[in-house]
Amino acid sequence: MPRPLLLLVFIHKDLSDYKTNELYENHFNWLSEEFETLSGRPFAIIFIPPSDAPTLSDHSYKIDTPEQALHDWYLKVEEQKMTYTYGSYDDHTRKFLLLTRDNLNSSTAGIASPKGYCAISSIRGNQTPAHEAGHMFGATHEDYEVYYNGWWDETIMAPGTGFSALRGDAKRFSDKNRENIRNYLEEYA
Ligand SMILES: [Zn+2]
Repeated sequence: MPRPLLLLVFIHKDLSDYKTNELYENHFNWLSEEFETLSGRPFAIIFIPPSDAPTLSDHSYKIDTPEQALHDWYLKVEEQKMTYTYGSYDDHTRKFLLLTRDNLNSSTAGIASPKGYCAISSIRGNQTPAHEAGHMFGATHEDYEVYYNGWWDETIMAPGTGFSALRGDAKRFSDKNRENIRNYLEEYA
């Protein structure tokens, strides 16, 4: 039986005045469906409000470099990971995403280490959190595509996601990236 997948979304304090259901609708609802369709596994997304994780939700993400912000996020998650077991997940099936109001710097909307379990994403682009989740599950920039559906829509792993003003959001992974994610899951989980 393939193991279920879990995305923990920590809402940064700077998003406290945003409506949770709007954040979910815009950035995550369709993502859960996409993962379930491509993998055949349940894909749960749990929002953690700032008040439930005070030391994680005030993470300083606009520091010297996005890489440093991600590294510091890893250290904090590592310390508190055991609080978020929710059953038999491990680093390959359970991911920790910090959702922020702003970009990390003028050119970085989000960051994740490939096949890692930690990421930071701003809400500036509708596909940005999905893009960072994609990195954690083995999707790559090289395999993104543009699909024509009455308009040109970029798939989730387009490197310029959130900035390509003239193209729409496909709100799905390319066929190759769907395959990459399936391969990652079969290999590790
Ligand atoms: Zn990327």
